[in-house]
Amino acid sequence: MGDFHLRCSECGREYAEDPARLVCEACSGMQEPGGSTRGVLEVEMTGLPERWPDFGSSDPRFLADFLPVKDPQSFPVFAAGGTSLMRARRLAGERGLDRLWIKDDSRNPSGSTKDRASLLVAAKAGEYGLDTVAAASTGNAGTALAAVGAAADLAAVVFVPATAPEAKLVQMLSYGARVIPVDGTYDDAFELCLAACREFGWYNRNTALNPFTIEGKKTAALEIARTMAPDVPDVVVIPTGDGVILAGVAKGFADLAASGLIDRIPRLLAVQPEGSAAIVRAWAAGAHDSEPVRGAHSIADSLTVEAPRNARLCLRRLRETGGAAVSVSDAEILSSIPRLASRTGVFAEPAAAAALAGLAAALKAGLVDKTESVVLLITGSGLKDVPAAARAVTRPGPVEPTLEAVSARLAL
Ligand SMILES: [Zn+2]
Repeated sequence: MGDFHLRCSECGREYAEDPARLVCEACSGMQEPGGSTRGVLEVEMTGLPERWPDFGSSDPRFLADFLPVKDPQSFPVFAAGGTSLMRARRLAGERGLDRLWIKDDSRNPSGSTKDRASLLVAAKAGEYGLDTVAAASTGNAGTALAAVGAAADLAAVVFVPATAPEAKLVQMLSYGARVIPVDGTYDDAFELCLAACREFGWYNRNTALNPFTIEGKKTAALEIARTMAPDVPDVVVIPTGDGVILAGVAKGFADLAASGLIDRIPRLLAVQPEGSAAIVRAWAAGAHDSEPVRGAHSIADSLTVEAPRNARLCLRRLRETGGAAVSVSDAEILSSIPRLASRTGVFAEPAAAAALAGLAAALKAGLVDKTESVVLLITGSGLKDVPAAARAVTRPGPVEPTLEAVSARLAL
């Protein structure tokens, strides 16, 4: 419930909150069609708490003092966040690490970390008296918006590539969202949503455009830091599409450092699929913005974007935290699904399993040392895309219902 204003992440200009203002007026003049968002606004809180609030519960009101809401009651009743941070000893041992944790954000109500951002956007829509929120999504953000919309009695309009996994489409339809499948890419859906919001006056939840998406996602960092206090992890591994989750996690740690609750900030490691690696390419080239990857493709649909909308801010946060960016193949992503599930009990969608594949790549490249403490952010549930996970396991055929048949099968 702190006071806050918005600050442009590029030029530093300050703005008071205004539902009609999503980006910096000055920097938006440099916006290229289909390019990364110019003039991304970040929330700057004043009067952050100097003590940890008690937030053992998943009730977001426990975090309200860290968030830009006028009243904790602005949050609809929706149990986003408060997810488990689990020590992964078996997985750590296999990787030669001492200290590895899983932040299991598949436990959010709609099954992905996107619930965190949608909850805050819904709270803000309520404060502004708006009744319709729209979003472009590869699937999870739209599902999250649909879910929280249902809880908040807020109409949700979701623009999603028609190729999105069926579970995500069925989920958002079940939540009662107005779903508009777009015959095109996520990037096409993003632009269409932008135009539709302008035309119909809807509040836009597009990630990297609505400043409260970054702010909502920071709660994952607050929870990680609170659970591990007084320690701070050395590295947090973050599956990366548009780069907003990474910017959100960075924001959370930055707020905690500003309030004196932590004394250092973890290095952030961005992981992208090889077929959709605009940020990794830009990082390797030392660039401050990414070039679009035309025809981007990956089994990890949640990470498949041609032009990461938050590339500029994401790359800056990687530099500031001493982080890095790595790419992983679809084969590595797929094999990480059963590896993670069978060692930790956490069933991840391909995008989320990319965190584990990325850790292996980073260890190999010497970007992470085995003595360091590492947190993998598991961003979405494997139930979101069962056909993808099915490619990574062998399904046994049926047996006759006899013990002999079972014995014969076990002998194989
Ligand atoms: Zn600006």
